Amino acid sequence: MAPEVVVYPDRRLKTPCAPIGEIGPDVLALAAALEEVARIYPRTVGVAAPQVGALVRMVFVDCSGHQQVPSPRSPRILVDPIVTASDGTEIGREGCLSLPEITANVRRATRIEVVARDLAGRELRFEAAGFEARVVLHELDHLDGVLILDRVASASDIFPRKIRSQPPAATGSGPGG
Ligand SMILES: [Zn+2]
Repeated sequence: MAPEVVVYPDRRLKTPCAPIGEIGPDVLALAAALEEVARIYPRTVGVAAPQVGALVRMVFVDCSGHQQVPSPRSPRILVDPIVTASDGTEIGREGCLSLPEITANVRRATRIEVVARDLAGRELRFEAAGFEARVVLHELDHLDGVLILDRVASASDIFPRKIRSQPPAATGSGPGG
């Protein structure tokens, strides 16, 4: 059965997540659940663990095939990710699987460096820019209980989105997840 996507205003979306630490079977199962959600919901470029009800620090990112990201840099599964450097700032439109009724204009860094681990526990280091950096930052926000609604400058930066039939599309003009 497909994992259930947690939708706002569920309190789990506002809860800071715990580090993964040791990688066991439950962590591997969580990674599979995130990938499945991304596969089921069209145009999803990212999913964070709390969006499937797991309050731990893991995200799925996949910008491959996205027109704004000709050469994706981010690994798909990031365990205990940390942004170690960021630069620039830009406003862009974002959607979120957990906020299916809106999109929002959100200011993000344009360039980031990230350290994380893979599912074998090996250290990952990568840089991302533009749309891909935005997707990674959106997903990492979820791990701190931060949603795009918390990032808007004013209510005029929030836009209604037409509800689609099941399953809902994850993205508007910006990243979903
Ligand atoms: Zn999201």
